[in-house]
Amino acid sequence: MEYVKSKIRDVADFPTKGVLFKDLTTAFKDPRALHIIGWDLSQLYRDKGVTKVVGIESRGFIGGSILAFELGAGFVPARKPGKLPADTIKMEYAKEYGTDVIEIHRDAIGPDDIVVIHDDVLATGGTMAAAYNLIKSLNPKKIYINFIIELSALNGRQAMPEGVEVTSLIKY
Ligand code: AMP
Repeated sequence: MEYVKSKIRDVADFPTKGVLFKDLTTAFKDPRALHIIGWDLSQLYRDKGVTKVVGIESRGFIGGSILAFELGAGFVPARKPGKLPADTIKMEYAKEYGTDVIEIHRDAIGPDDIVVIHDDVLATGGTMAAAYNLIKSLNPKKIYINFIIELSALNGRQAMPEGVEVTSLIKY
């Protein structure tokens, strides 16, 4: 994991002043780092019977797809409003300034599914908490939550639902 860490780029003041952005594109473009990320993510869920991985738009699509492929599971995109073509369900959630909405197809997940929801970075946890509530409303058998990076100082863990297993590969 030290190798992957060495490939993550810190970008100061992006997207707004005061934010230190953890840029994973420099890790994803490195074949060895990409391989380690995919392998280590999948090791966390090998024996859990996962049937669907939900990736959160857009940076969660990359690790989420790799994880789904490695586990032999399906991939489901959770998207910004208005992007998915068929019947959707949505959840509004508070951001630092204003609100945002996340959507998935209503038929994407069913009661027999064991789901991992994946995003690249856990910051305040608002996005993931909304995704969890959305997916929970479709009553899958079980939901796991996963990130590549966890920014511990932002206390995102506190926003995670109680009793749900949350994993991350790298903690800062
Ligand atoms: P959250 O505050 O946990 O709802 O984060 C919202 C989204 O912004 C997540 O999907 C992260 O991918 C992204 N994000 C927030 N803060 C950072 C950061 N410092 N570096 C990289 N990505 C971030």
